[in-house]
Amino acid sequence: MAAVERVSADHPPFRTEAFIDGAFVPAASGRTFSAVNPATGHAIAEVAACDAEDVDRAVKAARRAFEDRRWAGQRPLERKRALLRFAELIRTHRDELALTETLNMGKPISDARAIDVRAAADCFAYYGECCDKIYGEVAPTTDDNLALVLREPLGIVGCVTPWNFPMIMAAWKVAPALAMGNSVVLKPAEESPLTALRLAELAAEAGIPDGVFNVVPGLGVEAGKALGLHMDVDAIAFTGSTEVGRYFLRYSAESNIKRVALELGGKTAFVVAHDVKDLGAVAEAVAGGIFFNQGEMCTAASRLLVDNRIRAELVERVAALAPRWMPGDPLDPDAPAGAVVSREHQGRILSAIQAGGASGARLVTGGTAVRTETGGAFVAPTVFDDVAPSSALAQNEIFGPVLSVIGFDGLDEAVEIANGTIYGLGASVWSADLAAAHKVARRFKAGIVYVNCFDADDITTPFGGVKQSGFGRDKSLHALEKYSDLKTVWTRL
Ligand code: NDP
Repeated sequence: MAAVERVSADHPPFRTEAFIDGAFVPAASGRTFSAVNPATGHAIAEVAACDAEDVDRAVKAARRAFEDRRWAGQRPLERKRALLRFAELIRTHRDELALTETLNMGKPISDARAIDVRAAADCFAYYGECCDKIYGEVAPTTDDNLALVLREPLGIVGCVTPWNFPMIMAAWKVAPALAMGNSVVLKPAEESPLTALRLAELAAEAGIPDGVFNVVPGLGVEAGKALGLHMDVDAIAFTGSTEVGRYFLRYSAESNIKRVALELGGKTAFVVAHDVKDLGAVAEAVAGGIFFNQGEMCTAASRLLVDNRIRAELVERVAALAPRWMPGDPLDPDAPAGAVVSREHQGRILSAIQAGGASGARLVTGGTAVRTETGGAFVAPTVFDDVAPSSALAQNEIFGPVLSVIGFDGLDEAVEIANGTIYGLGASVWSADLAAAHKVARRFKAGIVYVNCFDADDITTPFGGVKQSGFGRDKSLHALEKYSDLKTVWTRL
């Protein structure tokens, strides 16, 4: 067991056991794994390493809760109140949750506080409000029939989430699933399990009944796989890599044909036409688009496609902004970026950078580990120019602060390059000609398109991709469709 770093005297102890049936319990095997602060490389907690036995316990508890209707059978108004209380408790514990998130996965404390905690709370409030506003239908049949179309919860939803926005990713799945009356078993990423455990405790405090919201921390190949293969899980809501998304499709096929919704990787194209008016504003958006959250974003603006007429100037401007995104101590409220999630991930990013250099792309800035004296995992904001559209730099999701610049001549070529990856999550187009920009927006094969802006966001809009970025949508009222089913009830009058 690794030595555990002392956090601070006033930080409440981390919750480290699984949360099953309303109580914290150790893994049945007694095994644990280390939660590591990536900014120091030190373990901050030892967390229950759940496996198939624990997942089965959690699913059984969730099933009991679902079948005795202790949640699904409540008045929708009561479920709404519980979810709104939960949202409020998240806000009340904002500082603690933000600190836990930052210590566990390295993002700047100011982002954790202003973005992650706020968005998670808003998400539970939004879906809480939905509880008593979702109606069924009466089908337009002949007068001698009554055909009701009921919207019903699925039963047990397994949620498997990544480490880049641990609370938000959990909220995007758990909140609509609970709003529809399901019971949930959440498997957070092994790099960032701590806030999920605390959220489950706050949910219980808010009045969400035992067994309705369970959390099983553990390894993907153990807890995640067991959830995917479980015969009594009705649906999986997954966010993570395309590679692991494929596993969940297989698990479903090999078990009970459970529904699977996949939010997978991305390789966003940020297309800049020659006629943009304010190149400075574009450069700011590009830099923020790729360097925010250390580039650990599925929608990160990782490919800058720029008209060759303005390419040199834009590259120069973006490179000039890179120092402003240099990572600092994540606990420093002024740090613009923090540590990447782990030393292993840092190694993957640096390997991609090295391969990029070897492929003939020109390294403009960055390309190295920084703050190495801290023992943490930090990477300098990095820009490559002259990137070949078919190269690994331009095709593979790096999930780090690495920008690949590709020149084009005319928007037709830009669209072809933009659509030329396996992914289809985000895309952006910038032009003074709004009609031309909108025509490009329609031609992008992507689930989310930004016109003359980047990373605009609101809980009311659907989020998800096409192609190998997956299917199904998080956020908005459309997300509720993933967690409910239609039942037709005929009555002959
Ligand atoms: P991974 O796919 O590696 O892991 C995601 C989750 O799946 C983790 O909980 C992980 O557990 C689990 N898992 C891993 N292997 C298995 C397995 N064999 N069977 C079952 N479960 C498994 O993704 P990352 O956590 O590395 O997150 C980064 C990825 O997430 C990127 O590709 C990114 O694009 C994507 N992402 C997509 C978003 C979207 O909305 N489209 C949003 C945010 C991220 P463990 O942690 O133990 O490995």
